Amino acid sequence: MRNQAAARPGATDTGLGTWRARLAICDGCDDCGPACVDGVPMSRAEYLRLKRYLASLPSADRARVLSQNKRLPWPGAPSITYVACPFRDVELGRCAVYPARPLVCRLFGHVEWLPCPSGKVSSPAASGVRLFQRYSELELKTFPEWEEIDGAPGS
Ligand code: SF4
Repeated sequence: MRNQAAARPGATDTGLGTWRARLAICDGCDDCGPACVDGVPMSRAEYLRLKRYLASLPSADRARVLSQNKRLPWPGAPSITYVACPFRDVELGRCAVYPARPLVCRLFGHVEWLPCPSGKVSSPAASGVRLFQRYSELELKTFPEWEEIDGAPGS
């Protein structure tokens, strides 16, 4: 789940700047990519943003990613399989909607319950629990569930 945000020096411990600095640790790293499993929950605002971003991708890229076989062997245990997130580009090993990914994807590696698998993030964010508690008060659904509510073509 690669990061593209820039670190901002002098940020406070609870502010957005700290999160930018934290997320910069992930820059170019895809070690938590196998955690990109199907069924990621998101708010309606996140769904709409992701949908817009998806629509902005070149149609060939979008079709290539969405048509990939997402059933994959579990790393280190190939006899076990899992279904990857529909937005994971399993050929290139990256998130195809990275700038529009939901909050849970952004928090990966930075909160106690989603630790960094390679130990690059030394400690969980102090504000992570509070942030997620507030987020959990929103209505959260998967992308297909929001599509069904929206009456999207093909749903
Ligand atoms: S939206 Fe992107 S970062 Fe989030 S689970 Fe899917 S592929 Fe991974």
